[in-house]
Amino acid sequence: MAGTGSRKRARGWVVALVVLIWLMATAALILLADGRTVRFYVYGDEDITLEYGADFHDPGVYAVTVGNLFGESEKHLEIQTLGAVDSRRLGVYVLRYTTRFAFEDYSVERRVTVVDSTPPVIELKHVEGYEPSWMTGYAEEGYSAWDAVDGDLTGKVRRVKLDDRVQYTVTDSNGNTTTVERPLPNISYQPPQITVLGEQNLVMQAALWYDDAGASVSDALGRDLNDYLVTEGNVTPWVSGDYEIRYSITSELGETISAVRNVTVVPVPLPETVTPAEKTIYLTFDDGPSPYTARLLDVLDRYGAKATFFVTSQDPRYYDEIGRAYRAGHAIGVHTSTHDYNKIYASEYAFFEDFFKMEEVIKEQTGDYTRLFRFPGGSSNTVSNFNPGIMSRLTRAMTDLGYRYFDWNVYSGDAGETSKTTQIAKNIKDGCAQQKISIVLQHDIKDYSVAAVESVLEWGRANGYSFKALQLDSPGMHHGVNN
Ligand code: ZN
Repeated sequence: MAGTGSRKRARGWVVALVVLIWLMATAALILLADGRTVRFYVYGDEDITLEYGADFHDPGVYAVTVGNLFGESEKHLEIQTLGAVDSRRLGVYVLRYTTRFAFEDYSVERRVTVVDSTPPVIELKHVEGYEPSWMTGYAEEGYSAWDAVDGDLTGKVRRVKLDDRVQYTVTDSNGNTTTVERPLPNISYQPPQITVLGEQNLVMQAALWYDDAGASVSDALGRDLNDYLVTEGNVTPWVSGDYEIRYSITSELGETISAVRNVTVVPVPLPETVTPAEKTIYLTFDDGPSPYTARLLDVLDRYGAKATFFVTSQDPRYYDEIGRAYRAGHAIGVHTSTHDYNKIYASEYAFFEDFFKMEEVIKEQTGDYTRLFRFPGGSSNTVSNFNPGIMSRLTRAMTDLGYRYFDWNVYSGDAGETSKTTQIAKNIKDGCAQQKISIVLQHDIKDYSVAAVESVLEWGRANGYSFKALQLDSPGMHHGVNN
């Protein structure tokens, strides 16, 4: 019995083993057929773009197993996340999600790109009660610029002043640009108004002085800006011609407003010269009055002859003779006060100053100014050559001022050539005999020249000459100007 029982037990083991092997083989086949693996489910986008500085919340993933025969399991596998995102640093970050199943690692990735697409912020400051003006321009009230990535960008702001606003622009290191504008009050930006005082188109006769009436300027709010007014241009009032005086004001931003006065200087009118019909001798005496002038006036009176005196101030003791001559019907003309060539021909100013000093003496003596004169040395003199062109300028200026200058066409020779009275008288007679109209040059500071006059008057009367005083319309007998 024992033998039978032990065999039975042995056979039972074998069967069990076979069944076990079969079961295992079947299970292995089923597993193989199922082909179980891991499947990830990613929440959100696999590529995320994140703004600089923003909080990053990882949407996460989950993973399950999946097979051909039994599908997905319900159970979520344990996930490990590798990597991290720093939103304070621009760049690309990779998050790796991993899990382990059946002795094998599985993973999936997510890319997070931290970018800066936020432009800087510009903040404009405002000063209470501030009022800009055209003159001073808009004085910046202040601004600041800040960027999340670059920090303070105030120094990089480009500021552009436009007509009615100021524009501020700044760009951060990632190319994000911000522009803001500040509107400006219109009224203060209206340009100032320049008012030309007096006549804007002034026509004046030549004169020694020109006093410009000026201009005034105020801004649109009525504020006085005269301190900033610039006047350019000159009028040479004794030279006829067209002049321009320009008044302008320039703002601190370099904008200029201007107004113009046109000044036209016209010559003081002079009468046309009239050549006397009859034979005429204009006796002229320079450089007096002198101790001999009284005697000369007596002689002229006796003959009823009129003459012309081109006077100086060289001997004020005899100024009275100027008045006496004038009242006797003789003509008085200026010959300058000092007769000092180096002084009077140094400049127009110097000439005028000296000239009009003599005019005052004449006015005192005669009650009136004269408009007749003779240049010391004559208009053709070369003693003024030290000042090139002065005679050209003076002959024109004095004519523009309404003065008539007289040279001569008969020279007595009394200024050094001879001191003989008979020779002087002969020179004069010979000269006058050759022409119908004569202007004779003598000097009444020379007694030997004064002494020749009676003989000349006698000769002239005998030969049908009139002795006349020069007038504004008398022929000038101008020499050519040599300087
Ligand atoms: Zn002289």
